[in-house]
Amino acid sequence: METRLIGKSFLDGKPLEIFISEGKIKSVLPSASSPKNFWIGPGFTDIQVNGYGGLDYNSIQSDFLALGQISKKLLQCGVTSHFPTIITNSPEKISALIQQVVQLRKMDSLAHSCISGVHIEGPFISPEDGPRGAHFREFVQAPNWNLFQKWIEQSEGLIRMITLSPEREGSASFIEKCVESGILVSIGHTNATHSQILEAVKAGARLSTHLGNGMHSIIARHPNYLWSQLGAENLSATIIADGFHLPAEVIQVFKKVKAEKLMIVSDSVALAGMPPGDYNAAVGGKVTLTAEGKLHLFGNPNTLAGSAMNILQGISFLLKNELTNLSETWQMASIRPQRLFDTSFEPFQIGQNADLILAEQAPDQTLKILKVLKNGVEIPLD
Ligand SMILES: [Zn+2]
Repeated sequence: METRLIGKSFLDGKPLEIFISEGKIKSVLPSASSPKNFWIGPGFTDIQVNGYGGLDYNSIQSDFLALGQISKKLLQCGVTSHFPTIITNSPEKISALIQQVVQLRKMDSLAHSCISGVHIEGPFISPEDGPRGAHFREFVQAPNWNLFQKWIEQSEGLIRMITLSPEREGSASFIEKCVESGILVSIGHTNATHSQILEAVKAGARLSTHLGNGMHSIIARHPNYLWSQLGAENLSATIIADGFHLPAEVIQVFKKVKAEKLMIVSDSVALAGMPPGDYNAAVGGKVTLTAEGKLHLFGNPNTLAGSAMNILQGISFLLKNELTNLSETWQMASIRPQRLFDTSFEPFQIGQNADLILAEQAPDQTLKILKVLKNGVEIPLD
């Protein structure tokens, strides 16, 4: 069966007609016309997903197949590819959580195609209050290659990235070993000095994780780990664009400094995608999710308890506030994260898996998903 999509290219606005057959892009032709505000582009790639829709990759499930719902729900938001993100925990629990994702992918073909990697965030991060964020302090430790290697084996090659802090001895050689193993190293939850950050970049770290968050609330004017990461030429950066984690002016500055190296993640926790209300969360205890999507500690609206937005809501926040234009925002959520792992990735290539979105930009500038194709198959949006 052949499918056809018509819309304006997310890259340059030129009308395109894309034919899809057997799950792949078969041809891409210029179209004489296109519905006015319909846009076509690649599906979104979210490299930091802790959980979604009430389900948590950081909890051992009584029925691990339930986690397959995350892939389904994220697909409806245009996320055709995501990285379950496993945060600081005991080594045994991290092993078990990795194996849970591996088993899920073996049993659930949709999850298999949507989960393109696992992101390990911690436990090799800063123990300091502030940089550590909500990670359990008792399980934070110095980089340990033997341990990480065990997780790589247990993941059957699925671990594609790690967030760590290069603030302890041995960090540079750990980073080099990760790079040799084809694993992307991202700096985050760090209290590293300027020279430690430069050394990490020299060793092969290429990204900063949710830059501007997982920090002390007050830092020295200079030097500090924020300037060091902003100034490092070879570091790309992810940001959480939910409107609560970073003020608009910070995003404006990061965009100017990082330019095409800036991208977005959701960093969503299990309560993302749930109705507003009070909940008991695995991390943070009693929390409140507001109608605006802010997740904070119960009775304390100033202390965030994780991100409750999906990447599409992040995109809409950037667009609504005119922080980035449609083309750039789409790239920040799709080809930029994809190119971290496949430098030659180009959208709309013949023979490529048809992971595509048709979307409409609403009068308030937000993006509304009209159609999602995963491997050429249309996903019911309900
Ligand atoms: Zn984090």
